[in-house]
Amino acid sequence: MPVMDHPIHPSTQHGAEFRYGCNNRNQKPRGYFVLTRHYFPSGEYELRNEWIENTMSKGCRNVDYKSHPGCKDCPAPKDLEYINKMKELK
Ligand SMILES: [Zn+2]
Repeated sequence: MPVMDHPIHPSTQHGAEFRYGCNNRNQKPRGYFVLTRHYFPSGEYELRNEWIENTMSKGCRNVDYKSHPGCKDCPAPKDLEYINKMKELK
C-alpha cells in the first residue's frame, strides 16, 4: 500500500547527545530470573524461577565505531573479531 511521504516525527529522531548501548555495557547484569512453567505428568504445572545467563555481547560491535556519533567516546572494549568478520561480509 502506498504511503504519503511525511516528515520524521521529532520523538523518533536522534539528537547529537544520542549514544549507542555500548556506552553503558558495564551496567548490564550477569543475568536475570524468569518464571517458567514446570509440568507434572498430570498436566498441571508450577511456576519456578529460572536463571537466564546474559549472553549478549559485552564489547562494542559497531563497525563504524571510529566515526559514528553514536559511538563517540565509547568506553567499551571493541570486539574486533566480530567487527572484522562483519566488514568481510560487506
Ligand atoms: Zn561503541
